Amino acid sequence: MKIITTIQALRDIRAGWAHEKQAVGLVPTMGALHEGHATLVRQSVKDNAKTIVSIFVNPTQFGPQEDLARYPRTPEEDEKLLAAEGVDLLYRPDEQVMYPEGFATGVTVKGVSDYLCGPFRPGHFNGVATVVSKLLNQAQPTCAYFGEKDWQQLQVIRRLARDLDVATTIIGVPIVREADGLAMSSRNRYLDSENRAKAALIPRIMRQLAQDLRAAGADIPTLLEAARAGLCAEGFVLDYLELAGAEDCTPRQDLGAPSRLFVAARLGATRLIDNWPV
Ligand code: AMP
Repeated sequence: MKIITTIQALRDIRAGWAHEKQAVGLVPTMGALHEGHATLVRQSVKDNAKTIVSIFVNPTQFGPQEDLARYPRTPEEDEKLLAAEGVDLLYRPDEQVMYPEGFATGVTVKGVSDYLCGPFRPGHFNGVATVVSKLLNQAQPTCAYFGEKDWQQLQVIRRLARDLDVATTIIGVPIVREADGLAMSSRNRYLDSENRAKAALIPRIMRQLAQDLRAAGADIPTLLEAARAGLCAEGFVLDYLELAGAEDCTPRQDLGAPSRLFVAARLGATRLIDNWPV
């Protein structure tokens, strides 16, 4: 596995692969890799002749009160995991490379960014859309892989790829969960053992709620409110728990169109998100 840090090195290697007409997969990450990331990587290695993984903790997607400074960084372990998965290229640009002096452009995806996490993390999806646009331009991948764990982010990226005529195929990969159902996340390592055990209530409540919502005659607003109350009673501070359109992420109170359950809840200083099909 080759490790590079500059756009020029990425372009040179990419140009060689283009010459050989090889399919190239890109897996963008912020590092502190776990089995969820590894699953995206495996999918890319399977689908493409070459796989690039980027690791960049993108400052523009963190709010001023968020965890940028303490975001976990495990470069040696990440390198080992990626080499073992058969990754061809690890691209690890720094902030100077991604946002040089004078950088002034942002990508805003309206609509789908405006709900769920949008109001709770102002500027977050602009940061994501901008950095992903840059990575897609830099790497020119045939396919790029994103986790359904960040379902709303995946919809934002699908929208921007369509709207900006990006040639890359955007591929969503199902959520990878711990044995107790908690969605794997780099942020789970912030949880102490008591809160880690408690965090498994999120998937448990979501699974039950999804089932209850599908029952004939279900009173959807009442079921949602009861689930919210259940999490709050266990000490979660809820940003939201909503039923929303699977594509537009707009909250709704009926199952008339493809819908999912979405939750963002804080346990102490750790913010957890999850989503569930209905
Ligand atoms: P991150 O490093 O947290 O920015 O995540 C990089 C990519 O991995 C994103 O597309 C995430 O959605 C995806 N990802 C993170 N955790 C999981 C998981 N538990 N299951 C599936 N994909 C995940």
